[in-house]
This record gives sequence, C-alpha cells and structure tokens, in this order.
Amino acid sequence: MIEEVLKEADKILKERNQKTSIENFLFKEKLSPYELLILLLDDNDENLYLMAEVSKKITERYFGKVINLFTPLYLSNYCTCGCSYCGFSMENRNLKRIKLNEEEILKELKTIKSFGIDSILLLTGCDMINTPFEYILSGVKIAKDMFSEVAVEVYSLKEEEYKILAQNGLTGVTQYQETYNKEVYDKLHPYGPKRDYYYRLYTQERALKGGVKEVTLGVLLGLNDPIEDVFKMILHAEYLMKKFPNAEINVSFPRFRPAGTNFKESFKITDKMMLRFIFSARIYLKNVGIPLSTRENSKFRDALIGYGITKMSAGSKTCVGGYSKEYYSGNQFENEDKRSVEEIIEVIKRKGYRPEFTNWVKGVVA
Ligand code: SF4
Repeated sequence: MIEEVLKEADKILKERNQKTSIENFLFKEKLSPYELLILLLDDNDENLYLMAEVSKKITERYFGKVINLFTPLYLSNYCTCGCSYCGFSMENRNLKRIKLNEEEILKELKTIKSFGIDSILLLTGCDMINTPFEYILSGVKIAKDMFSEVAVEVYSLKEEEYKILAQNGLTGVTQYQETYNKEVYDKLHPYGPKRDYYYRLYTQERALKGGVKEVTLGVLLGLNDPIEDVFKMILHAEYLMKKFPNAEINVSFPRFRPAGTNFKESFKITDKMMLRFIFSARIYLKNVGIPLSTRENSKFRDALIGYGITKMSAGSKTCVGGYSKEYYSGNQFENEDKRSVEEIIEVIKRKGYRPEFTNWVKGVVA
C-alpha cells in the first residue's frame, strides 16, 4: 500500500543530514531511496553539472531525441473547493464562472488541433453539480475523435467512472496530490471534495485499474518542504510502476505561480533546485515521463530540452475559453512561457530534437 511507502519515506527523511558523495552511486543502474534523497539534497554546483550529464544520457537511452507536445483545455472553472493557492477556488467570489457547452468545446478543440497539437488535456474545477461525470464523459467523447491522446485533470473519480471514460477514448489521467504532507494538505484544503487526502492519493490506482494507460502524479512546489514532496512523489511513482508495469507513469512538479489570490508560498524554489529535482527523478526512475509546463519561463524550458524532460505543454491558456474566443474568465495561474506552439516547435528542432505530437500509448497498449 502506498501509505507504507510514505511511512518508510518519513523514516528516511529523518536521516537527511547524513552525507556521502554522489559519485559513489550516480552511475548505478538502481539507486536506493536513501541515495535518491542525497541527490535531492545535494547543493554542490559541480555535482549539478554531473547530474545533468547523467540525466542527458539516460533520457536519450530511454526516450531518444524526442519531446512530446500537449495542450491543456479548461472546460470549466466552477469549483466547490477552497484550495488556498488556486485562482478557481470558491473563495474567489469575483471570478466569473463558466463552462463550455459541447459546441464551444468542439470549437476550442478545432483551434488547438489547427496548431498541430494531437495530445489534449481536459481540465475542470471540482464541481460535481455543474460539471458532473456525464459532462466530463461528453468532453472525452468529443475529443477522442480528433486527438490521439485524451487525458483529463478533473476531480477524483471512482474506478467504475474511469473505466467508462477509458472505454470511451480516455488514455491518461493527471492528478496532483499538491503536497504529500498530510498536515499541510489539510490546512490548504479547508473544504470541498478535494479535502479527502487519502481518496486523492489513490486516484491513479483507481484510474489504472479502470483501464487508463497513463497517469501523471504531481506536487505543487512551494506549498511544503520541497524535498519531502518530491521525494515522496518519486517513491509513489516507483510504487505505481511496480504495481502496474504496463502503464506509463509521469511525474510533474511545477512551481507555484501567482493565481489572483493573496496566497504566498511557504518555500521559494530556485532554478537550481528545480534542475536538481528533475535530474534526480530522471536518475532514480530511468523511464519515468517528466512534463514541463508553461509555468516555467521560456529560457528555462529551452535549456532543459534533452536533460530529463520528455513532454512540454505548448501554447497554453489557463482560463476557460482562451483559444478560440477572447479571454472572458480569470486564469487558474499565470503562464510564464507565452510563446505559440510554432515557436516552441522551432526551438525543439533547433536543438536537434524532434517535436512529437502523437502519443503512441493508445495504439501500442490498446
Ligand atoms: S485546485 Fe482544483 S479543486 Fe482546488 S480550487 Fe483549484 S480548481 Fe478547485
């Protein structure tokens, strides 16, 4: 059970002051969780270069010179949760609440498709009345005819519901635990269905049991001690990889970005820390997928091509109705990389990599 993995992680985290040289284990095929923790903690610049080189080799060995591109589409910003860090929180009384109807969804999808994108992530807030399961199902059904990958980032569903979605074309589920620290989690999620830490923790397992082929785990960096969150998330991903060996598992760890609320993050995450986290994930879990969102700035994103990441979101809008219409709702968070899909494709090619639009998971595993 994942709780046992997290308990074990807590024990290892208590030993975090112990030091040993990373060169002793960096080139091993399989590192121990304790060695992973040492990687995450190491703040020596020379070691960071070394980790970058090792990450590059591993990424090329497992993924080739390819970057998958995907785009998020916000279907709705209705939400009954009060997550302190989110612009869609119910506390944000000034936000105009919107949900796209089928015709509008189709229009948005066509616009995204016209950019060349073939992998779509459908998002909603957490509101089972305004955006019930049937609404999510209809979004998936519309998208599956146009895109080779259709993933959702919605509220936690039941295994049976994931099964129905998978039978209707859903390939992936993204679900952020946000923070693995239960105490901090409880504080930041004062009400609403998302408050249930354990139900959320088992989302990926329910999705995979329901037949979804790919899941993404995530933490939002800045909410809690980042070492604890990244360490536990990577171990969670490893646990899922062992339990579901045929599934595609991704880890994602965006930094907190302003979201039109007064929330201030508790931990500042520097670029160097971000690099270390990405390299550590790559070195510890050789074949894990690592997406990088447009929350990061363009310079930082470009520099990481080839060094651990496998996917990039492109041309993202974080409000409802942002692609084919004028903006008419607030953003869930602010984007840093505002470039078009075309511009991102150009950069990837210039660096000697191939932008990939089709996610082959659907065809290969189905
Ligand atoms: S993070 Fe999700 S559940 Fe929480 S307020 Fe934002 S949209 Fe709602």
